[in-house]
Amino acid sequence: MQSIWTKTTEIENFESLNGDIRTDVLIIGGGITGILCGYMLKKAGIDCVVVEADRILSGTTKNTTAKITYLHGCIYDKMIKRYGLEKAKLYAEAQIDAIEEFRKLSEEFPCDFEEMCSYVYSLNDKNKIEKEAEALQKIGLDAKFVEDTGLPFKIAGAVCVENQAGFNPFMLLKELAKDISIYEHTRVLEFKPSYVVTSKGKIYANKIIVATHFPLNNKHGS
Ligand SMILES: Cc1cc2nc3c(=O)[nH]c(=O)nc-3n(C[C@H](O)[C@H](O)[C@H](O)COP(=O)(O)OP(=O)(O)OC[C@H]3O[C@@H](n4cnc5c(N)ncnc54)[C@H](O)[C@@H]3O)c2cc1C
Repeated sequence: MQSIWTKTTEIENFESLNGDIRTDVLIIGGGITGILCGYMLKKAGIDCVVVEADRILSGTTKNTTAKITYLHGCIYDKMIKRYGLEKAKLYAEAQIDAIEEFRKLSEEFPCDFEEMCSYVYSLNDKNKIEKEAEALQKIGLDAKFVEDTGLPFKIAGAVCVENQAGFNPFMLLKELAKDISIYEHTRVLEFKPSYVVTSKGKIYANKIIVATHFPLNNKHGS
């Protein structure tokens, strides 16, 4: 199935690395994490480079549904039980800050940002959903238990929160990528003490951010 984002937005091509370079911060991976890191660092005046094994945004990011929300399934009831109310509040606050950051970015870079409600529903477990709504309320969030979501099938119940959002990630990331030094088709193969070896040359860096979604140094014992 083709991604709706790749179907509707064309992303410019970037050259691959050609020989050895030096940078302050190396970001490995050109998905939403790598591009946002690159944009934020560049904006803060920090010299950085993004390397991407394939094309930027061609990994998990191209398949995202692109909802921006602090609801991620039923997590808050569990989180309060396991880590306590204060930590759950901190987590929620970080999520709310992130929504706000996306809102600000969308003002500068139009990307079909649209405020909407977010729902987490269950087909058969009303109790679980009620508990999640209560957990969110304990944290101080404006969550409601609802039975009608407009879905064309019957549900046991849903948690509904307002002021969440949806956006077109490719519209945004395409613009953010324009300000960053990016090398595509450049795969990081090995870490050395002061540099990394890529398929197209060495990169010397003071700091490295691994934004590959899956660990790239996933060896036994490492
Ligand atoms: C179907 C689906 C729906 C989703 N819906 C949502 C949603 O609604 N809201 C939400 O917030 N999240 C959602 N997600 C999750 C979200 O899409 C991911 O969390 C996010 O895209 C991850 O981005 P990333 O940059 O960390 O990873 P990726 O986009 O996977 O980027 C990592 C990049 O690293 C590159 N790379 C890997 N190894 C190397 C190497 N050795 N050298 C150089 N480059 C390398 C890869 O090629 C890749 O481009 C969804 C995910 C899926 C699959």
